[in-house]
Amino acid sequence: MQPIHLIFQQLNQPARIVITTHQKPDPDAMGSSLALYHLLVRWGHQVTVISPTNWAAFLDWMPGAEKVLNYEITREKSEAIIRDAEWIFCLDFNTLIRAKHLAPVVDKATGTKVLIDHHQQPATESFDYGISDTAKSSTCEMVYDFIIAAGKDEWIDASIAQCLYAGLIGDTGSFRFPAANADVHKMAAHLKAAGLHHTQVHENIYDNFLENRLRFIGHVLLNRLEVFYEYNSALIFVTKADLLRYDIKTGDTEGLVNYPLSIQGIKMAAIVIDRDEERKWSFRSKGMVDVNTFARRFFEGGGHFNAAGGRSSASLDDTVKTFKKVLKEHASEFQLV
Ligand code: 5GP
Ligand code: MN
Repeated sequence: MQPIHLIFQQLNQPARIVITTHQKPDPDAMGSSLALYHLLVRWGHQVTVISPTNWAAFLDWMPGAEKVLNYEITREKSEAIIRDAEWIFCLDFNTLIRAKHLAPVVDKATGTKVLIDHHQQPATESFDYGISDTAKSSTCEMVYDFIIAAGKDEWIDASIAQCLYAGLIGDTGSFRFPAANADVHKMAAHLKAAGLHHTQVHENIYDNFLENRLRFIGHVLLNRLEVFYEYNSALIFVTKADLLRYDIKTGDTEGLVNYPLSIQGIKMAAIVIDRDEERKWSFRSKGMVDVNTFARRFFEGGGHFNAAGGRSSASLDDTVKTFKKVLKEHASEFQLV
């Protein structure tokens, strides 16, 4: 994978460009993709953003979201666009598996592949150019750096600012995680000067749910939370029946994993959701507990040091049993005791 600055010159030639990201895009994935979309359109390109799957309704307000293709419902059209693309930008993921059913399509495509990502252990052999930096708070910060490095500061308008800010607050927990350094705050100041309405972005993402989601959280915290004080850990498990009873949609479970971390002494929190296709895990930790390695070793996943995801094809009961066994056997290795 060659350094990303080598493409700036090449981008002066108008081209057909696809931007894609990981399945079930979050604010950072969608925000970085759409910010880059607005930049590249202004640069004179023909650009399409393709998401491997659907996304949470709380992302629909983003400027340009209405033009994003959901691969799962536009397969033929999306495949034709990808086949035809001269450039394919892959944002906020670093191994093609995370693009789910889109992975083989991107893999086969002949367009030049560019990676912009901040997750651990990138599969750089899949990309021609790019930047992978785990020290970065978010892919949105990296797209911002890309815009500045390309000398396009002037093109940061309110639309780009809203999109970039969404990912910035999403991945830094609204500026509370360690990655929210001075550069991140300077970037926020620049976005504000460029027309950002930060209160509106917060409200769109965090204060725009239906009543059922709040009732669901109440139910889950009362009935589906187990705390393992001996391992400074906690687990939330969500059954299919819970999802049905409260009419839970994509995005409604986002952030739930953080609640147990508010308990004094808890260093790792996990949630497993019994989705149709798989049991989806999320892990969050504080301090020196490496959940990237935890997810990678035991739950077919990965991510960041303090935030990771994974999956299991076993039943909900069995994967919960596995979690408890792993906790018991490996707690000290992961600095949980
Ligand atoms: P979440 O728990 O919100 O799904 O994911 C937490 C973080 O880990 C996010 O940055 C997400 O992109 C990443 N992540 C989630 N699942 C996986 C996975 O299976 N593999 C890798 N490498 N990263 C993941
Ligand atoms: Mn991210």
